[in-house]
Amino acid sequence: MRVIKPVKINGFEIYKGLLSRAAQAEMVLSLRHIVSQAPLVSPVTPSGKPMSVRMTSAGRLGWVTDRSGYRYQATHPSGNSWPALPRQIAEIWHGVTQETRVPDSCLINYYDEHAKMGLHQDKDEGTFDFPVVSISLGDEALFRMGQPERGGKTQSIWLSSGDVVVMGGAARLAYHGIDKLRFGSSGLLRRGGRLNVTLRVVDQDTRAQIS
Ligand code: FE
Repeated sequence: MRVIKPVKINGFEIYKGLLSRAAQAEMVLSLRHIVSQAPLVSPVTPSGKPMSVRMTSAGRLGWVTDRSGYRYQATHPSGNSWPALPRQIAEIWHGVTQETRVPDSCLINYYDEHAKMGLHQDKDEGTFDFPVVSISLGDEALFRMGQPERGGKTQSIWLSSGDVVVMGGAARLAYHGIDKLRFGSSGLLRRGGRLNVTLRVVDQDTRAQIS
């Protein structure tokens, strides 16, 4: 991993270009393997509204949403356990957070040409004592960063393939979202679009360490 000083905006730390093109390609291969075992699903919100991203997970717990609510669970909707968290991804987590434990959850979101993510907080975890780490792969995306309060002032930045965002401290519960993609801007993914990998600690007491 490169050594890069992050850009800081409202407590969000943005590591521009942290992953080399080779590291991005390696990660795409592991994500393809994960998706072959745990296929992407088109989720709906608890109110029944379809989300425009498709998602799956790796690691001990996956984040899911359906008519029963937002939650973490140990199985894919198919009933299978989630695939293991790739070592390369765990190393990025350790590198940017200095945390020794591994994240419980690795959420993988695929954005096609028209996908976006409304402003929201990451707040389904049992602890907010650990940062959330987000890795961007593929097409550029306009990332909006707000405040911990709804309706607060926001600032936006274009995230490119290989960028890593750390949301910790004051930004851990800040609102954030993706307004739009520059579809076809990257070429990393054969059919275009963007993969976003989000790493989270879900349970304070899980003493999962580096294996
Ligand atoms: Fe989020």
